Amino acid sequence: MKVRVAAPLTIDSIVDGPGLRMVLWTQGCPHRCEGCHNPKTHSLDGGFEVTCASIIEQIHSAKLQRGITLSGGDPFLQAKALLPIAIEAKKCGLDIWAYTGYCWEELMNERNPHYQDRQLLLQQIDVLVDGRFIEEKKSHELLFRGSSNQRIIDVKQSLESDAVVLCSEYM
Ligand code: SF4
Repeated sequence: MKVRVAAPLTIDSIVDGPGLRMVLWTQGCPHRCEGCHNPKTHSLDGGFEVTCASIIEQIHSAKLQRGITLSGGDPFLQAKALLPIAIEAKKCGLDIWAYTGYCWEELMNERNPHYQDRQLLLQQIDVLVDGRFIEEKKSHELLFRGSSNQRIIDVKQSLESDAVVLCSEYM
């Protein structure tokens, strides 16, 4: 299986979640937020394809990283391809953050044809930063998010309680 990415795997980010992290920059985003920091990632056929196996190989060679962040673009456009990567990252003891332009409630829509794949991916994710970037709500004071409408969500607790549970330590 392959995943379309905008750039090679970053191995040393300290701004895309807590601690030293890898970041997978997925290609393709439908949200078109005004003021998007990364418009080159929007096109569905931009970037380049890499095999999931090659990403997993890089994950296995990680030594100092605390986690991996799925960013983009919107990772939930490629939930099926990202699932084996997320599963392997978990087996390696990494925590998983993901950024998405979808809000939690959209991902919970059972009528969406991608619902099942997105649920399976969510089940591997620890923390989800959700929602579109809104320029009027942008603030440099915010930790790990661009605009104040975005939420930093504890995915496990939210799935268990069927309601959004925020990570209060980051908000
Ligand atoms: S969701 Fe993210 S990548 Fe997509 S348009 Fe909005 S800011 Fe840009």
